[in-house]
Amino acid sequence: MNRRRFLLPLLITLVVSALCLGHTPPRFEDVLEDKTLRIDYYHTANANEDIVCIDQMYITGPWAGNPRQLAPEAENGRSTVTVFDAQTHERLYSNYMLTIVFEYKGTEEARKGLHRTFHQTVRIPCPQRPVRVVLEGRDLDNQLHAIFERTIDPNSVTIKKELPSPQDRRVDILCNGHPHDKVDLVFVSEGYRECEFEKFKKDVRRYTDYLFSVTPFRENQSRFNVWAVFRASAESGVDIPHKGIFKNTVLSASYNTLGVARYCTIFDNKTMRDIAGAAPYDHIIALANTSEYGGGGFANDYCMFTSDDKRSEEIFTHEFGHSFAGLADEYISKELFPMYYKRGVEPLEPNITAWLKPGQVKWAHLLTPGVPLPTPAEDEFDGKVGLFEGAGYAKKGMYRSCLHCVMGAGGLEFCAACREAIRKVIEHQSCP
Ligand SMILES: [Zn+2]
Repeated sequence: MNRRRFLLPLLITLVVSALCLGHTPPRFEDVLEDKTLRIDYYHTANANEDIVCIDQMYITGPWAGNPRQLAPEAENGRSTVTVFDAQTHERLYSNYMLTIVFEYKGTEEARKGLHRTFHQTVRIPCPQRPVRVVLEGRDLDNQLHAIFERTIDPNSVTIKKELPSPQDRRVDILCNGHPHDKVDLVFVSEGYRECEFEKFKKDVRRYTDYLFSVTPFRENQSRFNVWAVFRASAESGVDIPHKGIFKNTVLSASYNTLGVARYCTIFDNKTMRDIAGAAPYDHIIALANTSEYGGGGFANDYCMFTSDDKRSEEIFTHEFGHSFAGLADEYISKELFPMYYKRGVEPLEPNITAWLKPGQVKWAHLLTPGVPLPTPAEDEFDGKVGLFEGAGYAKKGMYRSCLHCVMGAGGLEFCAACREAIRKVIEHQSCP
C-alpha cells in the first residue's frame, strides 16, 4: 500500500475536522453564566484618537439575550465588542453598537483635536472563566480598529454584585415568556416627579400600544416582554439649553447635544444603566417627560424620545428603529453626511445603499417586479419597492427602498427594507 496515498486523505480529514471544530460556536451553558457582566467605561476621543478606561464592572441579574445567538444577526454599527476565552482564544460572544462617541468624532471640535469624554456601557453574558474583551471602532471605510483590549476575570473581587436600588419601581407591562426566549424592552423614566408615577405608567402603556400597532412589531408582539422602571426626578422636564431651561432630573437628559437644538440625549449613562438593571433587558428606551420635540437613538445602546409632543409617536418609532435594528436615517442633511459616510463606501445599515449595479441591489428580493431602477420619486411608485434616490443624509448617490418611511422620508410606517431588518432582529433575539 502506498503510504503517501493513505496519509494524504487522513491529513485532509484532520485539517478539515480542525477547521470545522474551530468554527463551531460554543454552547452558552458550557462557557457562560446566566448572568450579565456590565462593563462601564470612559471613552475619551477626538477625530483621530480613542482612549478607553474601565470605570466599574458589575455582575447583575440574568442574561436577557437569546443564549442560542452569541453573535449579532448582521454586520452593522460603528463599533464592536468581542469576547474571547483568555486561555483557548475561542470567540465566545460578539455584538455591534453605535455610540455618541462616533458622532462626536465627526464634529468640527473633534477634528480640531479637542478631546471629550463620554461614559458608556457594554454588557456581555458573564463568562465562567477569564476572558479577553476587545472593543473596536470603524473608520469611514468601515474598517475596524482595536481601541481597547483587556483580560477580565469574572471572579475578581473588584466586580460589584449589587442588587437594584429599592427606590426604583418596576412595572411589568407585557409578559410573554422567559427573557431568554423574548425580546426584552425596558422603558426608564426621565423628568417625572414622584407625583407623576401614574403619568409615567400611562405614557409607557400608550407608547407600547403604539409600537405594537406598527408593522412588523404588530405581527410579532408575542415575541416581546416590556418592562418599565421608575425613579423619581426632583423636577419635571429636561434641560433645553437654547431656551435657558435647566431641570434637575435623574438621567440628566439635555437638548443641544453636539450643538444640535432638537438632539436630546442622556448625559448620565451610569444612572440610566442602574435603573434599567431592575429588569432583564435587551433594549433601553428612555422616556422624557416633556412636550418639546426631539430625541435620539443609538444602535444597541439606547434610544430616547419625549412624552407629549404631537409627533412623539413617530419620533419614538424612528429613534427605536436606530437603537433596535441599527437602521440609518433616510433623510437628507448636508452637514451630517460627511460625519457618517464616505462616497463610494457601501453603508452597513440595511435600509440604505450606494450600489446600483444589477444583481447587487441590497434588497433585490424585495423589489417590486418591473420597477425602474433608480425609481422616480413620483406618486405612481408610492407603495412600490425600488431604489429611490436621497437617503443616508445624501441627496445624490444614496438610495432607500420606498418613497416613504418613518426613518426619515416621511410617513408613519417602516419601508420594506426597514421592516425586513427589524423582523430579522426580532427572530434573532427571540423564539416564536
Ligand atoms: Zn426605511
